[in-house]
Amino acid sequence: MTTFDDVVAFHGHTCPGLALGYRVGEYVIRNFSPRAKDEELVAIVENDSCAVDAIQVLTGCTFGKGNLIFIDYGKQVYTFLRKPDGEGIRISIKWESPPETPEEADAWRKYQNGDSSEEVLRIVHHRKTKKLKAIFEASTDELFDIKEVRMEVPRVARLFPSLRCQVCGEKVMETKARVKGGRIVCIPCAEEGKL
Ligand SMILES: [Zn+2]
Ligand SMILES: [Zn+2]
Repeated sequence: MTTFDDVVAFHGHTCPGLALGYRVGEYVIRNFSPRAKDEELVAIVENDSCAVDAIQVLTGCTFGKGNLIFIDYGKQVYTFLRKPDGEGIRISIKWESPPETPEEADAWRKYQNGDSSEEVLRIVHHRKTKKLKAIFEASTDELFDIKEVRMEVPRVARLFPSLRCQVCGEKVMETKARVKGGRIVCIPCAEEGKL
C-alpha cells in the first residue's frame, strides 16, 4: 500500500490538499478498484490542485497514461470509472477544515503579506498540522459524499501521427498542426508570442 510519505515524496511537500487526495485515492483502491496498471480505471478530476497528485500516485490514474481526465470546474469532485463493467463512483469532498482561531487568522494574513517571522511560521505550521490530523482522523462519511454513477468514459484520443512544423522543424501531432501562409506549422509558430 502506498503510504502518505510516498505521496509526499512525489509531490514535494505535505499539505492538507494532498492529504484529502490521499484519502480519496485510498478509498478508491480499497473499495472500488485495484490500482490501475493500464487504463482499466479512469479518474475524472474537476480541479488541478495538490490533491490530484496523491490521486495519481495511489490509483495509477495518471496524466501520462491518459486515464486521468481534467475538467476545469474548480470543484472538489473526483469521479472514477471502471472500464470493464462501466461502474463508477463520484466522490465529492464535503469536509470543512476546523474553524480558524482569531490568532490563526491573523498569522495567516501576516504570512500571506510576506511576514515569515518565527512566531508567524510557528502558528501557520501548527494550523497545517492540525488540519492534516483532522483529515486523517475523519471518517469517510465526514469527508465525502459518495454516489454511484454510470457513465461512458469520455473519449480522449491521444495518439496521432506527427508532422514536422515547417517553421521550427519540431515534430507536432497532426491534430494540433495549423496551416499558416500555406505552410504547416505548430501552434507556437502559428501564434507568435506563445510559449
Ligand atoms: Zn501541496
Ligand atoms: Zn513550429
